[in-house]
Amino acid sequence: MEAFNVAVLGGGPGGYTAAIRVAQLGAAVCLVEMDKVGGTCLNRGCIPTKALLTCAEVLAHIKHAEEYGVEVTQIKPSFARMVERKDKIVANLISGVGFLLKSYGVTVLKGRGVLTAKDKVWVEGCNGGGVELQADKIIIATGSRPALIPAFNIDGKKIITSNEALNLKELPESIIIVGGGVIGCEFACIFSELGVKVTILELLPNILPTEDKVIGQRLRLILKKRGVEILNQSQITRIEVQGDKVVASLEGKEPVSADMALISIGRSMNTEDIGLREMGIAQGRRGEILVDDKMETNVHGIYAIGDVVGKIMLAHVAAKQGLIAAANAMGGNASMNYSLVPSCIFTSPEIGSVGLTADKAKEQGFDVTLGNFSFMALGKAQAMGQTEGTVRLVVDVKTDKILGAQIMGPHATDLIAEVTLAIKMGATAHQISETIHAHPTLAEAIFEASEDVHDVAIHAAKKK
Ligand code: FAD
Repeated sequence: MEAFNVAVLGGGPGGYTAAIRVAQLGAAVCLVEMDKVGGTCLNRGCIPTKALLTCAEVLAHIKHAEEYGVEVTQIKPSFARMVERKDKIVANLISGVGFLLKSYGVTVLKGRGVLTAKDKVWVEGCNGGGVELQADKIIIATGSRPALIPAFNIDGKKIITSNEALNLKELPESIIIVGGGVIGCEFACIFSELGVKVTILELLPNILPTEDKVIGQRLRLILKKRGVEILNQSQITRIEVQGDKVVASLEGKEPVSADMALISIGRSMNTEDIGLREMGIAQGRRGEILVDDKMETNVHGIYAIGDVVGKIMLAHVAAKQGLIAAANAMGGNASMNYSLVPSCIFTSPEIGSVGLTADKAKEQGFDVTLGNFSFMALGKAQAMGQTEGTVRLVVDVKTDKILGAQIMGPHATDLIAEVTLAIKMGATAHQISETIHAHPTLAEAIFEASEDVHDVAIHAAKKK
């Protein structure tokens, strides 16, 4: 039986990050992956969606080419070639992760890992049958999959999840998107830009229910302007194929039909049949693995990270948890802190937020002031032809410290990094104002918002 210092189950962004860090710290590490390294993020999540979204954005630019003084006589989008491009990007990145793992001497075993003892893993399917390995420490990073509801009759053909949506051979004429969360809204942007008639069915009163209310309301208006129909407070009782259509039955409302339905109602954690119960590893109500801030389970020496712990299901959170678990598995004393996780939504326009919203800050007892700036007033945004959206800084009146930011607009998902660092360093609005921001750049919107906190933004009209 081969022996390692650390075994990692699952090669997504959580697992492969942990494996590389453990190897950097000098340990012998084995990564067990039953499919392809990169996990949901590279194969079925972050990267493929953004690759398709970029194609949709290119098409949007071309459709507006005349505004930029470019006459385009024929536009011929090919969804098949967009998918081909996406597949190439994904394959490149997967081989990049494989290369990194190899360069650090990480042993990668292909198969399904199951805990058989506190220090043993059975790798089902490895080398034709199975292989048992011994490891002093184990990190579980088996991730998640789309949540299914029996009444939604998902068949992978006409009633699909995000997994199949990323591999369609051709586009439907119309699609129902069930769930107006982040994934649903990103797909709504992709499909509507590519000419598909989109209807979003959302149970709650607004889309993007986890974001600041204003953001959801604004995106709703923008999507509606693009022809996306949004039916809030829609309680779906059943979805089924009827002839060549998919029909969603709604409580107290007329049924909605389309060529296809994409179900994006959340994620289920991959915690079944991997030996958790047998090892006495504690799980929560949703099946999530319970961990402390060291990412350790109740069983000493067994850690869990990423989607499987059900905290914030994002790739950068999984990777950070991986670094924490790796450090602790190697004798360190690192803790996970969730107070400053940037959230990025790749709709058009993009949304980036971090820290506290104004409402949350008030709830926590802060006396709050806001700094706002509209991209409409920014030279770079005007030059780019992307003026939709604003920067909002949430600032503590007493200390002038930045508490949070919500940015909606061009490259909001990149811009949010500046505010994240500012909050991490305990910076004040005044310190952002004191920092020279290059011109013309989108980052000037953050500078102007910081000046607006003290009512001295040069490119905002005098307040009455
Ligand atoms: P995963 O990435 O799910 O990886 C788990 C791995 O474990 C998989 O490779 C699986 O094959 C393997 N595995 C499972 N069971 C076993 C076993 N028993 N033995 C061996 N291997 C096993 N997040 C962002 O931050 N930004 C985004 O823009 C973003 N976009 C997304 C878009 C979509 C459509 C989806 C679905 C998700 C998106 N996410 C995004 C979320 C992100 O993909 C996940 O949070 C992230 O991948 C979680 O990483 P993980 O390592 O915990 O698990």
